[in-house]
Amino acid sequence: MSGTETTFGPHPRRLTHAVRVGGVVMGGGAPVVVQSMTNTDTADVTATVRQVAELARAGSELVRITVNTADAAAAVPHIRERLDAMGLSVPLIGDFHYNGHQLLQDHPACAEALAKYRINPGNVGFGRKKDVQFASMIESALRWNRPVRIGVNWGSLDQALAQELMDENARRAEPWDAAAVMREALVRSAVDSAARAMELGLPAERIVLSAKVSGVQELIAVYRELARRSQCALHLGLTEAGMGSKGIVASAAALAVLLQEGIGDTIRISLTPEPGGARSQEVIVAQELLQTMGLRAFTPLVTACPGCGRTTSSFFQELAKAVQEHVRARMPQWRISHPGAENLTLAVMGCVVNGPGESKHAHIGISLPGTGEAPAAPVFIDGRKVTTLRGEAITEQFLAIIDDYVERRFGAHDAA
Ligand code: SF4
Repeated sequence: MSGTETTFGPHPRRLTHAVRVGGVVMGGGAPVVVQSMTNTDTADVTATVRQVAELARAGSELVRITVNTADAAAAVPHIRERLDAMGLSVPLIGDFHYNGHQLLQDHPACAEALAKYRINPGNVGFGRKKDVQFASMIESALRWNRPVRIGVNWGSLDQALAQELMDENARRAEPWDAAAVMREALVRSAVDSAARAMELGLPAERIVLSAKVSGVQELIAVYRELARRSQCALHLGLTEAGMGSKGIVASAAALAVLLQEGIGDTIRISLTPEPGGARSQEVIVAQELLQTMGLRAFTPLVTACPGCGRTTSSFFQELAKAVQEHVRARMPQWRISHPGAENLTLAVMGCVVNGPGESKHAHIGISLPGTGEAPAAPVFIDGRKVTTLRGEAITEQFLAIIDDYVERRFGAHDAA
């Protein structure tokens, strides 16, 4: 490294084989893809279409659906048709366990409607049936020209392989600890299954790998090793991350370390939704993770101070919420009519201590009056103070300033 180079920023993306899933490319240096999964009964076409649409509109670039029964498999082509009729081309991934080989054989319309098949080598079949049923799924992928994800999960790890590695470990002069054997089993299951799929004729450009666990340090260790041993595109996710802030923090902690090291071509945040909560929260968290790391931009980012004893009202919290909701609601339209608006940065600050400084760093910022300050809110655009808002309509006026800025800077009339 020369004296002028720095180590700021993420490592370069690790170069994997590019995999095309419908119209979406993952790996090969393409931007990290956001995906999600439904929790509806796939046989219920209406409910599944509604949730896939919700996830796609929130920004999920791929959506996985469970295909576990003949009814679910029969529903898949109808789900695809309904989404197409709604103008939603989001690729669907079929999640198969135990009977995937049979469902793909018996339901060719399902095999055709899906853009990718997820195979879990830990439960594709047991005993002598395992290799035959795995081969059958790969043959379906070859027949329909589809990629697969070989998705290992420590909750359904290939028990025969785990036993083999434990026996091997027992013969070592210095045996590994049990966690190391488990990590090796996860990585070997993924890498060996990929090698088997390639022997059967599936090119590396049609294989994505994952090896999910629910512990942060374990996940990081497993994926570093997977990245070292394979050039296949990698799907990252902390499995069974949990609910609310725990699930978000654990997922972000694990995935951020790996993404920072250039590992990971697609991510899913496996959140347990709050009762009645939106399934699309997992999409928003995935986007915010990538955007706050500076890897992709989806929606204008709002910087807001936490508030303190210098603020006497909750007004600035309400303004920050209103701004966040406003830009999120506008973004689906802006994405089409005002491309680039997703890179906008906004600041909503509680008082004069950090307000003007932080506001000047954003494209648009507002510094609200704290306790004892004059009842005035200076607004900064591109680092310069342009106006001061007062009175009851500060929220509406500030939202109008944002809309006006987006129109001027990203609108069709000013391509510059
Ligand atoms: S900007 Fe002002 S109100 Fe906000 S946290 Fe800092 S001192 Fe407190």
